[in-house]
Amino acid sequence: MKRQNKIYDCLIIGAGPAGLSAAIYLKRASVDVAVLEMGPIGGKTNYISIVNNYLGLNNSFGPDLAMKFYEHAQANKIEFIADEVTTVTKSKDLFVITSQDDEIYYAKSIIVASGSLEKKLDLPKADIFEHKGVSYCAICDGPLYKNKDVAVIGGGNSALEEALYLSRIVNKVYLIHRRDEFRADEGIVNEVKKQKNIEVLYSSLVTALFGDTKLEAIEINGKNRIDVSALFPYIGLIPNTNFLKFDNLCNKDGYILINNNGETIVEGLFAAGDVANGPMKQIVTASADGAIASKGVLNYLQNKK
Ligand code: NAP
Repeated sequence: MKRQNKIYDCLIIGAGPAGLSAAIYLKRASVDVAVLEMGPIGGKTNYISIVNNYLGLNNSFGPDLAMKFYEHAQANKIEFIADEVTTVTKSKDLFVITSQDDEIYYAKSIIVASGSLEKKLDLPKADIFEHKGVSYCAICDGPLYKNKDVAVIGGGNSALEEALYLSRIVNKVYLIHRRDEFRADEGIVNEVKKQKNIEVLYSSLVTALFGDTKLEAIEINGKNRIDVSALFPYIGLIPNTNFLKFDNLCNKDGYILINNNGETIVEGLFAAGDVANGPMKQIVTASADGAIASKGVLNYLQNKK
């Protein structure tokens, strides 16, 4: 293990909208802050096709918006550390972070803004076919299936938004939902229903995947076979909290429990964005959560002086 000598005032885990927003607020308040991120800066925003509900930036292409976030952070000289956090513990008043790169980082406070990961499809061959027809990122892999038939699973905002995105590239999208009613916002539901090359299959479950070396077809409800070149499951999210070694930090679904100030039950540990138990999972609420958590950190550091 390589030990960093320095002790940060605050380390932020995750460079999505929540983490970046918190970092900018803290940096502008002269706090010694850095952001640890193992993936692209901007987080999940990089994988969203079109963002229509972020104030002032209607119809933004996700990766473009993520780049704007990055540029904003750069303009504030935010320090980024490209590393994967493996554990976070607390020893006396200091947080200790270990990482995949065998580093140990120390901080007086932490903001967890590590977001969430797509739930994987639990079917035989789903893992074998990943990147061979099964994809969890329409924006990354959709263009590979130009003029082909594909399927999307799910009835939430992600499934419907990405089905709409794919419908502009591919020949046909089968949108497969297990109930007869979507949970996605009404606006996007209406748009999907208007799209001629999206066929919605309600009360339907994908029960098998067929193909030799890559996905060729899917089975619906144990009987009907549909030929598709790709399948995009958008069946929900799992918060990224495995690295946090604290009891009773999360609710039963794995989301970090926070109060209105972004505080958790661990003193000095804050959370923001999709990883927390907030009422909405949106870019705008993640950004706001980050700002609120930064205020919590400022108060915490002030009281510790
Ligand atoms: P979600 O809202 O949890 O929806 C997951 C969907 O997958 C549900 O329709 C669920 O069906 C279905 N599902 C779950 N497990 C399944 C399984 N094993 N087989 C088949 N279907 C299954 O997930 P999400 O769409 O990724 O959205 C996550 C959060 O992010 C939400 O709060 C959402 O509002 C937010 N979000 C917002 C935006 C936006 O504002 N533009 C965009 C994307 C996401 P049931 O409906 O029957 O439970």
